[in-house]
Amino acid sequence: MLHVNENYRKIQASYLFTEIAHRVASHQSANPAAKIIRLGIGDVTEPLAPAVVEAMHRAVDDEAGRANFHGYGPEQGYAFLREKVAEIDFRARGIDIAADEIFISDGAKCDCGNIQELFGDDVKIAVGDPVYPVYVDTNVMAGRTLASVDGRYPGLTYLECSAANGFVPTPEQAAGCDVVYLCYPNNPTGAVATKAQLQQWVDWANANKALILFDAAYEAFVRTPGIPRSIYECDGARTCAIEFRSYSKTAGFTGIRCGYTVVPKNLVAYAADGTAVELRPMWTRRQTTKFNGASYITQRGAEAIYSPEGQAQCRATIDFYLENGRLMKTALEARGYSVYGGGDSPYLWVDVKGDSWDFFDRLLKEANVVTTPGAGFGRAGEGYIRISSFNSRENVLEAIERLRKAL
Ligand code: PLP
Repeated sequence: MLHVNENYRKIQASYLFTEIAHRVASHQSANPAAKIIRLGIGDVTEPLAPAVVEAMHRAVDDEAGRANFHGYGPEQGYAFLREKVAEIDFRARGIDIAADEIFISDGAKCDCGNIQELFGDDVKIAVGDPVYPVYVDTNVMAGRTLASVDGRYPGLTYLECSAANGFVPTPEQAAGCDVVYLCYPNNPTGAVATKAQLQQWVDWANANKALILFDAAYEAFVRTPGIPRSIYECDGARTCAIEFRSYSKTAGFTGIRCGYTVVPKNLVAYAADGTAVELRPMWTRRQTTKFNGASYITQRGAEAIYSPEGQAQCRATIDFYLENGRLMKTALEARGYSVYGGGDSPYLWVDVKGDSWDFFDRLLKEANVVTTPGAGFGRAGEGYIRISSFNSRENVLEAIERLRKAL
């Protein structure tokens, strides 16, 4: 008889987005004329940068002739892209990362999800609460937890993030853990971590032979001087951290699919007999076995993000989203709400002074505006809603008008 992987049965149904879709659909059918504005979505709305589009067109032409045709590429990514990444994302900012420590992929979600394959079944994992669910669910699927109890999986350590700690946990909360997922700028809270806060984590990880999995998917939104865009800005991070990057929000690649992971040389985990084992060759092996590379056309598009025009165009689009966030934050604060995030992140995290689903329903019914209830990101998300800045200016201004009336 065929048995299923029982760990999959421990996964809680993805209640959040199903429930949102259900409530929005019933509101729309009861109010067919309502023009609903979605401020809940984490997907981009602006098109690709012209420099990226031109590069992808040229890459299609390459594929159209024998001379420049590309079939399977290197699983780790083409050197033309890895060298640009190392040079512009790291070395130009004084960070020591080499091209052969970069692994190009089809996005950060897969890498964040797959990385845990490198670690033992018994490693102790810490995640934030609220949290981007991929870190949690992939460890549940791998069998590192029991079935959930009251929305939490025994076996995981939850690092509670609240206004009191500025939505940045401290290493004391992860005592006894081997792996900690940190995401800054954060999804969903929009919080950023200071260099001193990240340095504390790096020092803790090095002292405890632990590993930081640093998700920097939103680094391009950082505008405040001094706020780190990479964990490797901290001293000693090369010996205790892997970093994930994504072109999804940075350059509108949610539909194109490309990102990368940094695994430094000399970063190790330990075998049962205490032998240090390098993670970079293990990740190389994992990727070459199970992944066949991002497409040539995609990687040429990603390369163009690093051209002077590409950099300016992508920055302008991010500035546009940040301005959306600033407008919404100002309007909500004027209504007396405490609003976290924005500024260095596309997400606003609004303290709704009550139940997050009740507030969600109120905005849906009274303003035809869809948000994301914080409770869906974990127990510590209760009492908040997440608002995303990914939208047209027209929708944002209309939503602000409606929120002013409803609140
Ligand atoms: N990490 C975080 C924190 C995210 O919010 C997202 C997407 O929403 C991802 C990773 C996934 O990025 P990608 O589109 O590159 O898979």
